[in-house]
Amino acid sequence: MGNKVVKFGGSSLADANQFRKVSDIIKSDEKRKYVVPSAPGKRFSDDIKITDMLYKCCELAGSGVDFSDDFQLIKDRYNGIISDLELNMNLDSEFDIIVKELKARPARDYAASRGEFLNGKILAEYLGYNFIDAADVIVFDTKGRFLLDETVKLTRQKLRGLENAVIPGFYGKTTEGIIKTFSRGGSDVTGSIIANAVNAEIYENWTDVSGFLIADPRIVDSPDAIETITYRELRELAYMGASVLHEDAIFPVRSAGIPINIRNTNKPEDAGTMIVSNDYDFSRESLGHTITGIAGKKGFSTINIEKAMMNNEIGFGMKVLNVLYNNGISFEHMPSGIDTMSITVDSSKLEPVREKVLAEIRREVNPDHIEIEDGIAILAIVGRRMKNTRGTVARVFAAMAHARINVKLIDQGSSELNVIIGVSENDLSEAIRRIYDMFINSEK
Ligand code: ASP
Repeated sequence: MGNKVVKFGGSSLADANQFRKVSDIIKSDEKRKYVVPSAPGKRFSDDIKITDMLYKCCELAGSGVDFSDDFQLIKDRYNGIISDLELNMNLDSEFDIIVKELKARPARDYAASRGEFLNGKILAEYLGYNFIDAADVIVFDTKGRFLLDETVKLTRQKLRGLENAVIPGFYGKTTEGIIKTFSRGGSDVTGSIIANAVNAEIYENWTDVSGFLIADPRIVDSPDAIETITYRELRELAYMGASVLHEDAIFPVRSAGIPINIRNTNKPEDAGTMIVSNDYDFSRESLGHTITGIAGKKGFSTINIEKAMMNNEIGFGMKVLNVLYNNGISFEHMPSGIDTMSITVDSSKLEPVREKVLAEIRREVNPDHIEIEDGIAILAIVGRRMKNTRGTVARVFAAMAHARINVKLIDQGSSELNVIIGVSENDLSEAIRRIYDMFINSEK
């Protein structure tokens, strides 16, 4: 029988009621053998995550300030869950160890990792599953870089012969024995690594939304979830700021050909989003929308350069890009005309060296005209089906024209996986809504 790795995020384990939902989900499918929990997250919007409370205790401890009141709040959260679930356990000795350790050596990663550690203990007890400390299986080198091969080897050794296991997310240990965490949201990464190690048939990532949404719900009212998305499409959207998953969670499963299924703990009946490899067989897929998702990001500037006969000047582009390179600026897009070139860059990176960059480009290529335009937003319309559909770009522009939105930049990569347009920052939300209407609402 195959197995599934299931990761539950902080809001899925924020209180006893959420633990009950999680247990029902796990118990409803006997393949759900390996469980990776986050620390308890927010129960309501003003609530504080356990991880943040632990960082605070660590900071206080580091400054030699008494943190017992803050730590008491942490204890209360866990003890509340234990008593609500009527579990026959207590974490007092664990709490004592943590307090002692924080007083002696207030290390941030150690402090933060305890959120997952303690939650994993409770969840293992509640499910009747084995508890495996992530420090015993997830390995980093002395510089804090994650080591996949060692981790996979250790995980397989530890899990051999075990029916099931709860493995806390977010942390591991360096080869020198020091607790180290991934960056924030890193339990996603642990889940992905464990899925790789146990060769799972699927990595289920349970959260509080029914998958990856087609557009940002703060902009589009109740957008639909994406049914299936390839890793490449996901990367395009994630780069533009759409996120449900830690970026580093992709590699371990992608390299092993394991699909990820984003699911909603509060709506387990929803199918969620499947993230699959690029060579996935889509022939059985119900024919979906032309586009997969839309995402946009503000904070860009374009450097517009004009020079007569630019096209004949060999090395023109290289000289301009060299200036950016020498100033540590990477460029996002570079559409060009015969005598014009326009380079989109992140405004915050450009700002400190703005005048210097202008002066250097003038010196290098002696343009007829150069200017910087700020306040640009970039919008990516992503979809693997666009390649075989005619008229996609026409529809994008029709939508923009009807909304009287001026398109400042257009870029379609050779992969035909996305169409990028630049608009004024003030137009971004409306542009996204119009494109959503054009491709999603009108295709229903
Ligand atoms: N608890 C950690 C955080 O808040 C890790 C995670 O939830 O994935 O960032």
